[in-house]
Amino acid sequence: MQSFNYYEPATVWEAIGLLESLKGNVFSLAGGTDLMRTLKKTGFTDYGVLNLKRIPELGGIEFDGQVMSVGALTTVSTLAAHPEVNRHFPALAQAARALGTPQIRNLATIGGNLGTASPASDLAPALLVYQARLNLLGPDGARVMAINEFFKGPGQTGLAPGEIITRIDLTVPAAGTVGAFLKHGVRKSHEIALVNTAVLLVPLRASAAIAEARIALGAVGPTVFRATQAEEQLAGAEGGPVSFERAARAAQEMTSPISDVRAGNDYRKHMAGVLVKRALLQAWGGTI
Ligand SMILES: Cc1cc2nc3c(=O)[nH]c(=O)nc-3n(C[C@H](O)[C@H](O)[C@H](O)COP(=O)(O)OP(=O)(O)OC[C@H]3O[C@@H](n4cnc5c(N)ncnc54)[C@H](O)[C@@H]3O)c2cc1C
Repeated sequence: MQSFNYYEPATVWEAIGLLESLKGNVFSLAGGTDLMRTLKKTGFTDYGVLNLKRIPELGGIEFDGQVMSVGALTTVSTLAAHPEVNRHFPALAQAARALGTPQIRNLATIGGNLGTASPASDLAPALLVYQARLNLLGPDGARVMAINEFFKGPGQTGLAPGEIITRIDLTVPAAGTVGAFLKHGVRKSHEIALVNTAVLLVPLRASAAIAEARIALGAVGPTVFRATQAEEQLAGAEGGPVSFERAARAAQEMTSPISDVRAGNDYRKHMAGVLVKRALLQAWGGTI
């Protein structure tokens, strides 16, 4: 076992001070499910580990009936089981249940899932359709970043040096809004997505039409992204298999998947369309 420097700050400001003084030569640790694997592969070299887990401000879920503030250290299993997350943000609860195994979900955090900036992240598509706002804190103070500005490339985020995610804010969508998350992998469980999607549909009052649609896709591009062209197809359209098929094709067109040992790019592209249509039907109350 290689020796390394270990830091355990008790407050966010202590953490920010350490991150600033160590000038990037330290990794922030949350659940460690991703970071420990990376460190085992690459070695610690000159890097230290800064454990965020003892910082109370980064924990807990607060809800005032309209805005939910989720601490960055909230575990995936907490999200999956939380009654208000299930009630108001069902696609996020479904995404949390689809992530990894029970052991991983008990350790993995929402902040860590965002921090990895994996194109195949399961929480990110759901957080994109709920238009999450990320509260960031760093040496230059606090700021809020819309989630659609956060992912810059595989493993690349919009975090400035020494900055961490403190909390993730979500606003309850308009009454009647429906949502769903679906994931497709080689196996049915314990699997990183070949493709995943989250959808959200806001119905037009007293009609079968859609006022607004949001569709996000993962694992079929360098980052998780919103399929805006598919969303535009659905705005004002009647919900159902015909419009959902059209939107699914538009979403498919926006993908740029890779080929690897797990699947070819054509298959991922095809499954992106299949999954989007299924998720739209599921959310709208149709069959899947
Ligand atoms: C067996 C296995 C199965 C997995 N299955 C899935 C899966 O199905 N779906 C999926 O999406 N992922 C999966 N993962 C990946 C991983 O578990 C998740 O991404 C998890 O949410 C990471 O959270 P963590 O708290 O463990 O992060 P950590 O490993 O502690 O950190 C990950 C990265 O985020 C940074 N970070 C952590 N917290 C913050 C913060 N507050 N602010 C800024 N940066 C931060 C760290 O510095 C690090 O770079 C799997 C991993 C394993 C080992």
